[in-house]
Amino acid sequence: MIMVYCEQRNGELLNVGLELIGKAAQLSKDLDREVVAVVCGNKITHLAEKLANYGATRVIALQHPLLEKYTVDGYTEALYQVVQSENPDILLIGATLTGRELGPRLAARLKTGLTADCTNLEIDPESKLLLMTRPAFGGNLMATIICPNKKPQMATIRPGVFPIPQADTQRTSEVYVFTPKLREEDIKVKVEQVIAKVRRHKDISAEKIIVAGGRGVGSKENFDLLEELAELLGGGIAGSRAAVDEGWLPKDLQVGQTGKVVRPKLYIAIGISGAIQHLAGMQESEYIIAINKDPEAPIMKVADLAIVGDWKPIVKRLIQQLKQN
Ligand code: FAD
Repeated sequence: MIMVYCEQRNGELLNVGLELIGKAAQLSKDLDREVVAVVCGNKITHLAEKLANYGATRVIALQHPLLEKYTVDGYTEALYQVVQSENPDILLIGATLTGRELGPRLAARLKTGLTADCTNLEIDPESKLLLMTRPAFGGNLMATIICPNKKPQMATIRPGVFPIPQADTQRTSEVYVFTPKLREEDIKVKVEQVIAKVRRHKDISAEKIIVAGGRGVGSKENFDLLEELAELLGGGIAGSRAAVDEGWLPKDLQVGQTGKVVRPKLYIAIGISGAIQHLAGMQESEYIIAINKDPEAPIMKVADLAIVGDWKPIVKRLIQQLKQN
């Protein structure tokens, strides 16, 4: 069995869980195993039903009043109990902030290994082991890791690396409620209140159009022009690590290996060279436009439309045109 932990926050399923169900469904064909989705919380059976639409063969609603708010103790214990009961061959978790916290604790409890922050998963045709690929040595090479003789084989996977499968609302699957045995005293950390951070920007992984800037944009003030272009196009802004390191953009707008993975319909890369670590976060975009004064910049090779020149007059003209239309 391939088990996928599908994270919910405030009663909303995160996309990464759906992405992982899609990938697990592909892997299950090579393994001939069922895909079981697990969603954890309190009164969450309606979410479990939704997961069936995305390709899970079976859905487990892991629920208990003590799981109302996320706590690492409570969720680790609850997942531990469900894994003990179901005995999956593979367990996949999204590498979100909570997934990165839960995964290693759960692996330690289960006495198995964990490959963290993976960017690809395959099944080895001979050994039938899960091949878990992740960047290593500062991103200079991609390491493929196996976990033989241990069960489950566990991985956390970066959000956005796999597409969300098409939902089929006709598709249903068995939904099973699992009530873990939890005691209040087992949960050492009590969450009193969750205060949401006020964000000026949307989550870039959800944007359909992204206008991204790099060091070539030149200054924080120049990003106002990129923001204006993004607004006219109905999208959001993002940037390279160089732009973030310069302090021109907040870290949650960084695209790439150590930032977010995005796959919008349109990605406009302005003054970005296209280092391998940046490409890792955006090359799956549907249509890429690059504006760069260097025709040899690596970004020009992945671009569907490469515009050679100084970005500022080009962007100003684009803004002017869009305002006229
Ligand atoms: P540069 O490489 O300096 O490129 C600037 C570009 O702007 C050039 O191509 C130049 O021709 C062009 N330009 C300059 N002036 C103009 C102008 N007026 N008009 C048009 N074009 C102009 N990087 C990421 O982006 N994301 C990551 O997540 C990430 N993770 C990393 C992880 C590791 C372990 C390491 C080692 C590096 C990582 N990096 C990451 C850094 C990456 O290697 C590059 O250094 C970075 O992406 C470069 O950013 P840039 O393209 O904005 O800047």
